[in-house]
Amino acid sequence: MEQNISENRQKQIKQTYQSRRKRPPLVPLINSSPLLRSSTLASSPPPHPSSSPIPRKIQKKTQAYLSLTRKPHRTTCSQCAMSYDTLSADDRKLHSKFHARAVSGVDILLPPTFKAISKVAVSTYTATLYKMTAQHLSSSRAVRVAIDAALRICNAELSAPDEGVEDFLSRASSSSNESAVYICVSPRSLTSAQAIIGLAVVDRISSGHFMSCDTGRLIPGPPIRLILGISRIYTAHTARGLGVAQHILNAVCESAVYGMQVPRNLVGWSQPSESGCQLAKKWCSESMTASEVSEDREKDADGTEKKIRVYIER
Ligand SMILES: [Zn+2]
Repeated sequence: MEQNISENRQKQIKQTYQSRRKRPPLVPLINSSPLLRSSTLASSPPPHPSSSPIPRKIQKKTQAYLSLTRKPHRTTCSQCAMSYDTLSADDRKLHSKFHARAVSGVDILLPPTFKAISKVAVSTYTATLYKMTAQHLSSSRAVRVAIDAALRICNAELSAPDEGVEDFLSRASSSSNESAVYICVSPRSLTSAQAIIGLAVVDRISSGHFMSCDTGRLIPGPPIRLILGISRIYTAHTARGLGVAQHILNAVCESAVYGMQVPRNLVGWSQPSESGCQLAKKWCSESMTASEVSEDREKDADGTEKKIRVYIER
């Protein structure tokens, strides 16, 4: 009997010790208890566990784990603009694939039924230009997948909303703006497939505004008439400086509207980057008719400010 009492006492002492060891810090406990909001109560010393009329429950034991998870080491590739974790094998693999496509272009296999709109000399080879409407993109899964990949790369480099082919198709079906994706494709070689080396997303529009290239702000004035809008334009790294973007823009003017060569001064740009502004200004001032040049000069006569035509995408 005496031994039982002694054992119980030992057990009680042990339990009390355990409960005190596992007790959370006092301050958070007092502050978190709705019964101890009064400053008087909060400032009085807490009752000793053994003197408390209500026996303190032994807190359930839980296993603690030491977290040794490493911190991600993110970096942004200066060429393809992809942000990835350099310590993750999956991320590195993903970047490697994306980077190769951004640099050399996205491989594409075009069905023979797709007719080219023109052929142009690029570097040492002849590239082919295609106009992809919603109908084209709906008819070939392989083409849709390739153009979707090219659009994603274009979006990443231009910091544009990450819209792919599905977004383009839903936009084209919900409006009558006759949007199209123009692609410039390198020829198939012994070592590589045909690849998309340039791309432009083009909208049919009706009006826009002038924007200052120096300030990036719209120049106040009435809306100006426009026919085509360049939503995005992009060239793969290895094809830059070879006139691919200019070839695409020329093809757009020739083939966007059936039976009409659209004048360059009726083409607007959506949120152009600094390099987009330079391309727009250079391309617009090249090969314009005398009246178009004179119109532009008149509008630029108020100062040295350079301006381009822009529009707001729906
Ligand atoms: Zn990269």
